[in-house]
Amino acid sequence: MNSGSEAVETAIKVMRKWGYMIKKVPKDKAEIIVCRNNFHGRTTTVISFSTDLQYRKDFDPLTPGFKVIDFGDAKQLEEAITENTVAFLVEPIQGEGGIIVPPDGYLSQVRKICTEHNVLMACDEIQTGLGRTGTLFAYEHDSDAKPDVLILGKALSGGFYPVSAVVASEEILGVFQPGDHGSTFGGNPLASAIASAALDVTIEEDLTKNSRELGAYLHTELRKISSRHIKEIRGRGLFVGIEIKESSGLARPFCEKLMTMGLLSKETHEQIIRLAPPLIITKEEVDIIIKTVRKLFEEAE
Ligand SMILES: *Cc1c(COP(=O)(O)O)cnc(C)c1O
Repeated sequence: MNSGSEAVETAIKVMRKWGYMIKKVPKDKAEIIVCRNNFHGRTTTVISFSTDLQYRKDFDPLTPGFKVIDFGDAKQLEEAITENTVAFLVEPIQGEGGIIVPPDGYLSQVRKICTEHNVLMACDEIQTGLGRTGTLFAYEHDSDAKPDVLILGKALSGGFYPVSAVVASEEILGVFQPGDHGSTFGGNPLASAIASAALDVTIEEDLTKNSRELGAYLHTELRKISSRHIKEIRGRGLFVGIEIKESSGLARPFCEKLMTMGLLSKETHEQIIRLAPPLIITKEEVDIIIKTVRKLFEEAE
């Protein structure tokens, strides 16, 4: 497909159809479980299960069929599943939600629960996938956590061109018959060639290793910065969230200051500075990030 949101829509369609065709859920009853604080895109159905009022307000009526549970709590998933549940859709690390890393083993537990209840496990790795967190996919940080459905976008083209994808087995994607789904520009040759080249570069240049090693270094050095403005520094690989204390105001002015200092970042929600440098970054460039962030907080003192 073209955008990440469209890939999520595609996954929802295929998982619902799988529910009716394969799991034999009664007509119109398919349920998908999602997490509070999620971000899966901006189309009407996708915002229907957002818990962020700004994304939903004045865009109703919304699409039914979704149930919201807390992120990081596998027990809640088990309790929320009914015989009509077709899928659990989750970000392995909540990106827009504030670089929220779930407890160790969470996705392994999710995998187990989904298998036991014949529910599809779908990971939205649009932001976390393809090396960003130091493994090719973020679900690999847990053992035996391979999802049934993997949703990719953003880095799939090196962040350069609109292309997204839903990855799943023949049994699942095979429920789509010719004419069930499509898009004028979906799967177009240029987008496909760019995605293919971006994947080659990711593998050949071992960008995942670069993300893992330089990410570890970046986290270690950033955590040495002591500032009364910092509440927490978290993330994995080259995916970092610096949470600013509420008493220190919003993250946005900190991001704007960083921009004037030559470092582009983007806040998520009110309090978090997000750093997501290109995976081709060098050690020297990571040192510039560290120096700049340290200077930011020194000046803020
Ligand atoms: C960016 C993002 C999307 C939406 O992708 P678009 O290309 O903006 O439609 C969906 N899920 C996650 C996790 C994202 O980070």
